[in-house]
Amino acid sequence: MVTMTRILNFSSGPATLPLPVLAEAQRDLLALPGVGMSVLEIGHRSRVFENIIEQTEEDIRSLGSISPDYKVLFLQGGGTLQFSMVPMNLLAPEATADYLVTGHWAKKAVEEAKKVGKVHIAATTQAEEFSRIPRSDEIILTPGAAYVHMTSNNTIYGTQWKQLPDVGDSPLVSDASSDIFSGPIDITRHALIYAGAQKNLGPSGVTIVIIREDLLTRSAASLPSMLSYAVHAQNRSLYNTPPVFAIYLVGLVVKWLSGRGGLDAIARVNERKAAKLYAEIDRSGFYRGTAQKESRSLMNATFRMATEDLDKLFVQEAEAAGLDGLKGHRAVGGIRASIYNAFPEEGIEALVAFMREFERRRG
Ligand code: PMP
Repeated sequence: MVTMTRILNFSSGPATLPLPVLAEAQRDLLALPGVGMSVLEIGHRSRVFENIIEQTEEDIRSLGSISPDYKVLFLQGGGTLQFSMVPMNLLAPEATADYLVTGHWAKKAVEEAKKVGKVHIAATTQAEEFSRIPRSDEIILTPGAAYVHMTSNNTIYGTQWKQLPDVGDSPLVSDASSDIFSGPIDITRHALIYAGAQKNLGPSGVTIVIIREDLLTRSAASLPSMLSYAVHAQNRSLYNTPPVFAIYLVGLVVKWLSGRGGLDAIARVNERKAAKLYAEIDRSGFYRGTAQKESRSLMNATFRMATEDLDKLFVQEAEAAGLDGLKGHRAVGGIRASIYNAFPEEGIEALVAFMREFERRRG
């Protein structure tokens, strides 16, 4: 094995992966044990790859307690293609889709849905710069909506739904790109959940879609095949060549997550990590959290200092100290620490120590 120094990677995605997963992938890269070929070289219709994709699906089902009436799909095109696929498959011409608009990615989802059909903004916190999640009394739903779309964690603004909204009988669709499997998730309250793998589950290149079976009948036969949930479900995500390496790596990450004791145990670690960081953000007033406290994300902690110059300096000096990827998204500026499942607890301590030191010198 090559010796190297790994820095602390606070990137919002692609993001840090568990070291044991990288080590296993490296060890087996030239030849999978018992196979004699790299996973990069194996045909997607081979028994070996079928085993990999089936096992990965089984492990996802068991980690997420997903019942057999949901399909688990491995698609391409990222969360962004789901912004289009959701309305193309689920929004019939005369129907209306409700959107809960809590940030940048929710707005993107709305833009794409509007190209397909009628959209109703059921709630938005844009007037407050998306600093919080809407309260239940602010949500105005369309009776008989085709679906209600939410973004469970707002990667850029650092907010997260703490409870699922009550959407009555409407199917709930959730973009869980930045918090999937960061804690327990009640699948039964969802009709569809989607997430690009590159934050909590693996590398970029594969998007996980968990869809309740009865929704598959909504996919019109006239849809292009690659955009149809029904086609992908019928073909068990092997309609065309899937991203084999990304799926293999998701399999390793899901095994690693299961090995940590499942979603309840993972939630406890994520809560502890976030609490340590927010305690430091709140300690003296030098740092200011940008999200309102009750809406704070466990995955992306956003904060700023008194001036943009200080923010810039913080990012530069942190980088020099081996803490990478802390610059906030260009849409909001400031600092963002993305601390997904695989981000190590010691990394939080290192950031907190750096924050104290920075405040001592610059405060
Ligand atoms: N939804 C959310 C919540 C995201 O954070 C992102 C990307 N950061 C996307 C969607 C878009 O995902 P992708 O880049 O995989 O298309």
